[in-house]
Amino acid sequence: MLGPKTLDEDTAQVLGYPLGDYNPSCKDDPDFIGPLTLRWSDGTESCVFDSEIHGYHGEMESSAKLHGEGAPRKFACGKCGHDRFRVTAQFDYWDACDDLLDDEPDLPAQDYFCNIIFFGTCTTCGHVNSILDMDL
Ligand SMILES: [Zn+2]
Repeated sequence: MLGPKTLDEDTAQVLGYPLGDYNPSCKDDPDFIGPLTLRWSDGTESCVFDSEIHGYHGEMESSAKLHGEGAPRKFACGKCGHDRFRVTAQFDYWDACDDLLDDEPDLPAQDYFCNIIFFGTCTTCGHVNSILDMDL
């Protein structure tokens, strides 16, 4: 799903949608929602996460999660405001995935993650920002 680049070989700007614009109770939450795109230093872009395509519910074609629309915004460091990061992603798999794969052993297990977290380490100040944290 990440294309030919690995996430840690380059720094990137992160394009996505502020959670607070889509969920008023999270108005002051700096987290983004997807679709999440990384713009690499050579100007190319990779869509790294889209809840309609990736993850457990995306795979089940029943995603009811928040989904950004329109022009994406650039994520800014919560400490210094700069916008270039070294991005890491964490995928978590829960019991529902195990049950599903017991029933359907031929499914691509790696695509059925239940929670995804993207972190961005600011290349300017070193602050580790939580960019996106979603149950799926
Ligand atoms: Zn910073």
